[in-house]
Amino acid sequence: MNFQHIFGKLSEIQASAPGRVNLLGEHTDYNDGFVLPTAIPQHTTVQLSFSDDAQHHFYSENLQERVSILDIHHTPSGFASYVFGCIEVLKQAGYTIPSLNVYVQSSVPMGSGLSSSAALEVATLRAIRQLLHLPIDDVEIAQLAQQAEIHYAGVQCGIMDQMASSLADTQHILFLDTRTLERRVLPFPNKTTILVIDSGVPRTLATSGYNQRRAECQEAAQFLGVKALRDINDAKVTETLPEPLNRRARHVVTENNRVLEVLQGVTPKRFGELMNASHTSLRDDYEVSVPALDTLVQILQKTAGVFGARLTGAGFGGACVALVALGEEKTATQVLEQYNDAGYTGQILVPDFEVNHAA
Ligand code: ADP
Ligand code: MG
Repeated sequence: MNFQHIFGKLSEIQASAPGRVNLLGEHTDYNDGFVLPTAIPQHTTVQLSFSDDAQHHFYSENLQERVSILDIHHTPSGFASYVFGCIEVLKQAGYTIPSLNVYVQSSVPMGSGLSSSAALEVATLRAIRQLLHLPIDDVEIAQLAQQAEIHYAGVQCGIMDQMASSLADTQHILFLDTRTLERRVLPFPNKTTILVIDSGVPRTLATSGYNQRRAECQEAAQFLGVKALRDINDAKVTETLPEPLNRRARHVVTENNRVLEVLQGVTPKRFGELMNASHTSLRDDYEVSVPALDTLVQILQKTAGVFGARLTGAGFGGACVALVALGEEKTATQVLEQYNDAGYTGQILVPDFEVNHAA
């Protein structure tokens, strides 16, 4: 299937946006803190043309699903809510958006924590910007995408995913201050690259766990009399809090400090140590790990050529990210073998050997 098969004519334009993986700075973005994502090679492409009737028509090649929006006052569910949300936030920003044919195709795995949702939003907004020559910049694209996800897809997300998809590339790490949106493009530590492995454990508790941690952080900030936990630099301050707020806050404070240390420039070894410390903190203080993620991280940390590893994303399942020495491609398959021998069904997400071999 392609655009022409579905919509009976050629598309006018197309735009893409990548997925992302966060190397350090987990559960910090809703605390106004610091993050270090990078773009992954997999991306989402959106093709557009003007619709011939008064309705929007969306098609996802991945889901093989077609949706027509009959009533613009009724938000659709599923993937259409992300695309529809992007159109609606543009309208609220004052732009006139005609009815559109939208064709979505993606190599970003969905629901694995590599942010296929932000890639979909950013690609959609980029495509509409191009089609209608809208004067919006990449930061505004990220902000509109976040609004679409919160208000139309109903996901209470921070700004990291959309900023990463809109502003990061695969060759650099993006430092982002999620409060001020100040950012800096950093090189990877000398001769390193990333490895992302899915644990095969679905993130079933992720939404409820995520909302609970958000509430705990808010409570901790109130207790400490600050706007957000980002305003605390010294982890000792968190000791005055009751259980478990003390540990939740300690994770956020130490995690922010780990990201700030990277900003000063660190060796691959030190970067890896900070990732390992991040995992320990997410496991013991923030309590968002599960045995499968701990097992996978342990195997990664013991493997030659791996500088450090941790769970990435909200936790409760999903993927792990590792910093590895360049040219150690065998590392990925070795780790996967050991992990699967422990009774799990993992999957290498980055590098995507199929995509890389085809290229
Ligand atoms: P993640 O962003 O980590 O991949 P989410 O649950 O936030 O996971 O977003 C996944 C959802 O985004 C999917 O369930 C789907 O609704 C939507 N989505 C993302 N990419 C596509 C795509 N290519 N086609 C259709 N829907 C997509
Ligand atoms: Mg998402």
